[in-house]
Parts: sequence; C-alpha cells; structure tokens
Amino acid sequence: MSKYKIGLVPGPVSIPEEIRRAYLAEFGSADLEEDFFQLYEKNERTLQQILKTKNRIAIMSGEAMSILWGALKSTTDQGSKLLCVANGLFSLGFGEMGQDMGLNVEMLDFGLNSIPDFDEVREAARLYRPDIITAVHCETPSGTLTPLKELGEISREVGAVFIVDFVASGCGCPVDVDLNNIDIGLLGSQKVLSMPPHLSIATVSDRAWRKISAVNYAGYDALKPWRNGVQNRYLPYTHDWHAMSALEASLNLIMQEGIEKVYERHERVAKICRDGVRALGLELFPINESICSPTVTAVNVPPNTDWKTLNDKLRSEGVVLGGNYGPLAGRVFRFGHMGAQAQEELVVSALEVLKRVL
Ligand SMILES: *Cc1c(COP(=O)(O)O)cnc(C)c1O
Repeated sequence: MSKYKIGLVPGPVSIPEEIRRAYLAEFGSADLEEDFFQLYEKNERTLQQILKTKNRIAIMSGEAMSILWGALKSTTDQGSKLLCVANGLFSLGFGEMGQDMGLNVEMLDFGLNSIPDFDEVREAARLYRPDIITAVHCETPSGTLTPLKELGEISREVGAVFIVDFVASGCGCPVDVDLNNIDIGLLGSQKVLSMPPHLSIATVSDRAWRKISAVNYAGYDALKPWRNGVQNRYLPYTHDWHAMSALEASLNLIMQEGIEKVYERHERVAKICRDGVRALGLELFPINESICSPTVTAVNVPPNTDWKTLNDKLRSEGVVLGGNYGPLAGRVFRFGHMGAQAQEELVVSALEVLKRVL
C-alpha cells in the first residue's frame, strides 16, 4: 500500500485489484504453450478494437521506452531522414534519439505549451522529404494533446512512415490509428492501462512492416520478429505470461465499462480538474484549454511558492501529484488522471488539499 492516499502521478498509475490479482496465477512456459499464444491473440484483437486498427500489434516485454527505441531502430538506417515534430519533451526526445543514432534529423520545434502548426509541418515535409515523421499524441510533461489527422495526411503525402507515441493517451481517448494513418503507434502498460511498466506495445501498418523488412534491424527491441512470430508460434524471447494476463484483466475492465464510457470518464474528470485548478486562481500550462489532454493536467507553479514547498505540503497530507523534468522542472506540476486514476473523487480530494496548502 502506498503511504499516499491520493495518488495522481501521471504514470506509473496505481494498479487496480483485478489487475494485481492476474499476476498471481500460475502459468506454464510462455514459449511453448498454445494457451499463451491464444491469450496474446485475444489481447491483440481487443487492442485493435480500442485503438481502431486492422494492423498487427506487437506486444513486447519491456518498458515503453524500449518500443520507442525499437520503432526508430527498426525503420531507419544510416542516412535515413527523420522529421521530428516537436511540441514537448517526449517529442523532442524522438529527435534527440535519432541524432544519437546518427540519422539526419530535422527538428520542427513548436515550444512546450502548444501544438504544431500543420502548414509549417507540411511545408517542411515537402522540402525535406523525410523517411520518417515522429510525433507525440499526449505530451505528458506539458498536458497537451496533439491532433494527429493532419500529420498522418502529411506523412502519406510525402511517403514517410508516421510514428506516433500515444503512450499516455492510448485507451484513454480516441487515437484512431487507421483513420489517422498512423504507421507505428506506441503504447506502454503503465499509463491508461494501469499496469506495472512491463509491456511495450506497437501497432504496425503494412507500409511500416515493408520498411522494417527492408531495414532488417536485429536486436532485443527489434520489431521484425513480431511480424509473423505469433502466427508461427515462435517469439524471439521468453515472454511475460503474467503481464499478458494482467493486460487481459486491464482490457476487460475497459470493455466492461465500454470504450466510449471510458473516454467520457477521462474527459469529465479532466474538465473537473481544469475547472478546479482555475477556481484556485492557478493557471494551466497549455496556451489554451482546447489543446489540453484528457489524461493529464499541467499547471504552472504559482509565483508565491515553489514546487518543493508545495510538494512537501501535499505529500504530508497524503497527496502525490507529478512534478516535471528538464526546463519544466519546478515550473509546472501535474495531475495524472488516466486509467484507474481518472476518478472524480480522487481529483476533487486532491484539489481540496491543494486549496488548503496553497
Ligand atoms: C510515460 C511516457 C513514456 C515512457 O516513458 P517513461 O518516462 O520511461 O515512463 C513515453 N512517452 C510518453 C508520452 C509518456 O508519457
């Protein structure tokens, strides 16, 4: 049990009882058992339904960062051109990862509290002719949600593989993989799915698979073995049956509540959070409310205090919110109301405590 009664950190999210219980079951060897592959395929079908895609889904073991690296390494080689659409720390991170890998990277930086200007992106893409375009749906440090449709259309227009990190939004709001032309959509288990950070998940389009075959990257994080691995009942390593069973439990919770109802709950709780924050005289970090994410709310630390003091006071009252990183450290704090934490009572209680300690 956490010593904090009110946990609203934007990942890892608190884990519901049903999901924790799924870890207690005993399983055979995931390499060998037909039951494991059937469980994998069941989870894949449910994820396809939620994420709205016909694409195959690689459900790999490892924390979400491993699939971000795996997606980049699997689709690029020396000389590949990456157009990095950046409007936050994770989207900037894609470009930095590409630079570290020695790719040609063009950064389009739209600042941390905004969303991209699509005309600028289109113009840059036409000039640069990238092989890959990267973007982040929910910028967890900034609390923004980037529309994906235009970016998907631009990617198609210039023939680039469109890679989207929807780690912090997928299953909490629509990502519409096929409609938005997302070639590789990335998800982790410790955000909306409310699991430990055990699984990294990628939807992969046929265009992306063709690219992946051509690049032929080999490594623990490689996507290639997942193209036919499940079909052939042969995976590149021993999979985590417990995590796969917890994923089933997590997806069951979503399907029992209803996908649309889950999205509505996230919208409603996020709105309560934003209204509550403003009622306390605080300012949201994103430049306007229309770009706020339904899974995380980012708030400016008020000028009359500092984050360390505020955080200590909140924690002493049993409330743990999210701090921030890099240039946002000490300036912006966050309510993570995703998955099991998208609960009105939790957010309202946290706001009451925040009011008291301010
Ligand atoms: C949480 C998250 C990840 C995974 O990063 P960790 O910091 O390792 O948990 C990747 N992308 C986004 C947008 C995230 O919110």
